Amino acid sequence: MSCTDRSAKLFTDASAVIPGGVNSPVRAFSAVGGTPRFITSGRGWELTDADGNRYVDLVCSWGPMILGHAHPAVVEAVTKAAAHGLSFGAPTPTESELAAEIIDRVAPVERVRLVNSGTEATMSAVRLARGFTGRPKVIKFSGCYHGHVDALLADAGSGVATLGLPSSPGVTGATAADTLVLPYNDVEAVEAAFAVHGDQIAVVITEASPGNMGCVPPKPGFNAALRRITAEHGALLIIDEVMTGFRVSRSGWYGLDPVDADLFTFGKVMSGGLPAAAFGGRREVMEKLAPLGPVYQAGTLSGNPVAMAAGLATLRAADAGVYAKLDANADRLAGLLAGALTEAGVVHRVQRAGNMLSVFFTEDEVPDFASARASQTWRFPPFFHALLDAGVYPPCSAYEAWFVSAALDDEAFARIEAALPAAAHAAAAATDPEA
Ligand code: PLP
Repeated sequence: MSCTDRSAKLFTDASAVIPGGVNSPVRAFSAVGGTPRFITSGRGWELTDADGNRYVDLVCSWGPMILGHAHPAVVEAVTKAAAHGLSFGAPTPTESELAAEIIDRVAPVERVRLVNSGTEATMSAVRLARGFTGRPKVIKFSGCYHGHVDALLADAGSGVATLGLPSSPGVTGATAADTLVLPYNDVEAVEAAFAVHGDQIAVVITEASPGNMGCVPPKPGFNAALRRITAEHGALLIIDEVMTGFRVSRSGWYGLDPVDADLFTFGKVMSGGLPAAAFGGRREVMEKLAPLGPVYQAGTLSGNPVAMAAGLATLRAADAGVYAKLDANADRLAGLLAGALTEAGVVHRVQRAGNMLSVFFTEDEVPDFASARASQTWRFPPFFHALLDAGVYPPCSAYEAWFVSAALDDEAFARIEAALPAAAHAAAAATDPEA
């Protein structure tokens, strides 16, 4: 067992001033138990915690760090931008450069608005869709997470799933009443909802390929079916690429499964690791935003020049070689995971969406949140802790995707390979607490 005294002390101190000691719930390790590691630095594929323990990072800040930590080109761009001033509350040249990079990569996106978080992006996109259509209702899918937007918290994935919450107190009945939650990958359920509420539905929002109930890719044609049905009923389609965008390909999930949504949301990779996100889409829809149109949306720090520099440097450094490396690293990791779990006799399924992946402890396909929840998630905590103790940092929940960086090299994989047999045996030895 590695020493975690300093992290434990920092967690106690943090808990005295921050609810639960963390600023985003999953970080508290509630689903896996134990002491959350307080990270003091990251370089390439490696994280170092406050006790000096070092880890192969398979979380990558929940997706953004495709180049690894403290990538020289990104650090240089950020340092240079910071030296010119941190924020002006006035337009700056790099905002349109980043917007143009996004437009260049995702063909249906003609205009982009930059915001500070993925939550803000989806919240604003839903407001815009309601403003554009003049309709109230939103369809979302069970197990998809779109940030902590009131209207989108119902039956959500990520931390909401990790903590086992059906929704959140504080979301009013009126707000929840306009959200229809449907099972993922179920076209018939979408057709049925439109048959009943068609003229009331403003928008369907879906993760491009969900990663917040674990990795549950859309069945072939699912996103295209959402496009067809929404268009038939005069509703809009939002494809949320906050997680997949510019990670699974240069053009995100759109590069693998090109479905022309009306609006897309982006975050994570395009932020380079600083607080930035975006939503964009058809010009006709986007121009309903203030100041051109009546739908209000704003932000003191939106388009922040330091965040723009980080995002631009990341996207520009992510060439074809980086995407090839990300895919190869995901293949290698998936192979090692499957090999060790098979060897230890643990039922499992490694699901993939491009270079994102996750491990489900089940032998059946996992096409939706119900089947993700039905898997043997109780095998996950001992698996997680054995990896962590051996210097490998996986996501701290069975309902999260694993994220590789292009920085992973043979040394990192050697550490993962060495850690896996004990972790797989820990998963094999786990027992169902409810049995
Ligand atoms: N949408 C998706 C698909 C996400 O995965 C997330 C966060 O993980 C969000 C939206 C919310 O982004 P943020 O955490 O930046 O608010």
